[in-house]
Amino acid sequence: MSHEDFPTENPAVVTCGLPYANGDLHIGHLRTYVGGDIYSRSLRTLGQQTAFVSGSDMHGTPVAVNAEKEGVTPEEFALRHHEKYEATFPRFNIEFDNYGHTHDETNTELTQEIVRTLEAEGYVYEKEIPVAYDPEADQWLPDRFVEGACPYCGAHARGDECDEGCGRHLEPGEIEEPTSTLTGNPAEYREREHKFFAVSDLQEYLQEFIDRLEGTSNAQNQPREWIEGELQDWCITRDMDWGIDYPGDEGDDLVLYVWVDAPIEYISSTKQYTERVGADTFDWEAAWKDAGVSESDAGSEARRTESGGDIVHIIGRDIIQHHTVFWPAMLRGAGYVEPRAVMASGFITLNGKGFSTSRNRAVWADEYLDEGFHPDLLRYYLATNGGFQQDVDFSWSKFKDRVNSELVGTVGNFLYRSMLFAYRNFEGTPDADVSEEVEARIEEAIDEFEAGINDYSVRQAGNAAVRLAQFGNEYIQRNEPWKLTDEDPEAAAQVIRDCVQIAKAIAVLFFPVAPGKMQALWEQLGEDGSVTDTAVDDAFEAPPASFGEPEALFEKIEDERVEELNEKLEARVAETESESDESDEDAENDMDADSDADIDFEPIADDRISFEEFQDLDIRVGEIVAAEGIDGADKLAKLTVDIGVEERQIVAGIKQLHDLDALSGTKVIIVANLEKAELFGVESNGMLLAAGDEADILTTHGDAVPGTKVQ
Ligand SMILES: [Zn+2]
Repeated sequence: MSHEDFPTENPAVVTCGLPYANGDLHIGHLRTYVGGDIYSRSLRTLGQQTAFVSGSDMHGTPVAVNAEKEGVTPEEFALRHHEKYEATFPRFNIEFDNYGHTHDETNTELTQEIVRTLEAEGYVYEKEIPVAYDPEADQWLPDRFVEGACPYCGAHARGDECDEGCGRHLEPGEIEEPTSTLTGNPAEYREREHKFFAVSDLQEYLQEFIDRLEGTSNAQNQPREWIEGELQDWCITRDMDWGIDYPGDEGDDLVLYVWVDAPIEYISSTKQYTERVGADTFDWEAAWKDAGVSESDAGSEARRTESGGDIVHIIGRDIIQHHTVFWPAMLRGAGYVEPRAVMASGFITLNGKGFSTSRNRAVWADEYLDEGFHPDLLRYYLATNGGFQQDVDFSWSKFKDRVNSELVGTVGNFLYRSMLFAYRNFEGTPDADVSEEVEARIEEAIDEFEAGINDYSVRQAGNAAVRLAQFGNEYIQRNEPWKLTDEDPEAAAQVIRDCVQIAKAIAVLFFPVAPGKMQALWEQLGEDGSVTDTAVDDAFEAPPASFGEPEALFEKIEDERVEELNEKLEARVAETESESDESDEDAENDMDADSDADIDFEPIADDRISFEEFQDLDIRVGEIVAAEGIDGADKLAKLTVDIGVEERQIVAGIKQLHDLDALSGTKVIIVANLEKAELFGVESNGMLLAAGDEADILTTHGDAVPGTKVQ
């Protein structure tokens, strides 16, 4: 890698994928924002100059479609959601240095300026292309106004994205069998002149870029297929009113495609931050502009580490292609700094199934807080439950387990018992030097924290403090200070002195994950000011000589509470499902990775098959032995299934709908004599039966053993 470790001399910008201004936030949405907040706080703790920015994505067809349904302007509609997001993030201690939106003046101007630069550099050309058109509505059908089949994988695809199949970005005119979402009629393709960004001219650059890119491995590997294959140029205009106008006179009736102005908001938001705090505090141009680009040869690695800032994008894995192909190409073409790293998070499921906003199958962000839970508990859960790129399952019961065992049992327990001991016997920090053993252990925790940040592992950074608390508990247990207070007061003072120092180190290292709780600890330690302003070295400074009686920082969650919460969720889902039979309201939310359209059952097939034809199918009971995700495939999982006579490897499209770790031991039904197939380079020998878009896995009611024939 050509990048030096954090902290560097450069300004860093940490960004979070823009939430789309189209619905309410549930806790699954918070994963990347919590990750970004922890990452930026951690960088600052390491001494890295950092700006943490994001903003709402206001444009695009889903906003236009939903605004029309509500009878309001797209701007009104999007602003309402924007304001809601802006208010919600701080309630989870997600504190952006700047949170703007894509429709504001800064972003409108900067977007048009960047497009003009791309034009001037020769990266933009015009081409006539087929664009979907609805003759009845007399309207062009950009993006989400058209649905059909993906030309690459055949899955049902919506507008510019194959969101239920291969996940590819789709260009206008690519969808097969297009249908208008306005009227439900088949759409026509009509020729129309549009602007194109010549991404293919930058293919060689992108191939070098991807080798330099740091972050999670999915973001480094997934784009290779696109970058090394035939790279398509990218249509950057749409026939719409809602969006940023194409600059110049020609763009009268064209707006820029939403994926042009959305990532530019990362720069605009940083610029707004500088405008507010001054360039001495944070200089957006030093961070984003590639000072060396005109002076040195293209592709020189040395230059890239010397000029510009360290840009880290934190996103959901469904938008990797945008951030590793189109976006760096745009930045390069317009003379801006390329991203140093892209961290792409896995999806999040609820009780092993996808969140569904239209079915109210979600734990809403507001709801979580209204239930009286501290935001730091959820931050901890989301950040440390699995690696950043792994899928994470949320259930109230798992949440309870982790809060009770790790936050209450390990961290809270250590802090409370050691501080209470210190308060009762010494009214604060005993007068002694920290032992070598403990100093070395704190150093180890700092190394672990720093390595976590440099490995782009929020989990590792977050766990450093928890492991330190674990050590603290062992240390107390081993030294038994309660026995020493009378026999050997000096030895007791030593042990407690050590423990108080560990407590302070925990405050410094755990504050990025739990800023609210660690501020409370900071105050319990008698420290002034904000724990936000600390740096790693403060972990070695002695806390004040006196402090008051501590209070427990974390509270146990009772089993009854979990039952109550589960019942509430189930009742709500059931209620929404019965309602949706009557009303046809579509509360669909674009930010959802899962598809959650209302169920529209297909009619029963007219053609009957004979019993003999049915008997051709060899359907068996199986039992899942192992399940793992397949790299690069959003939905596919590789299953090992015991079918009595043998073990089979089967690929099934269930990855994001199920908690893979929990599947082992599940009885399943498979078609054993289906032709073998290869999916993402993995052989599938049989087919798993599952119902519907949610891939509800078929299982047995009784205790049929693996191998039993289904007839
Ligand atoms: Zn596809």
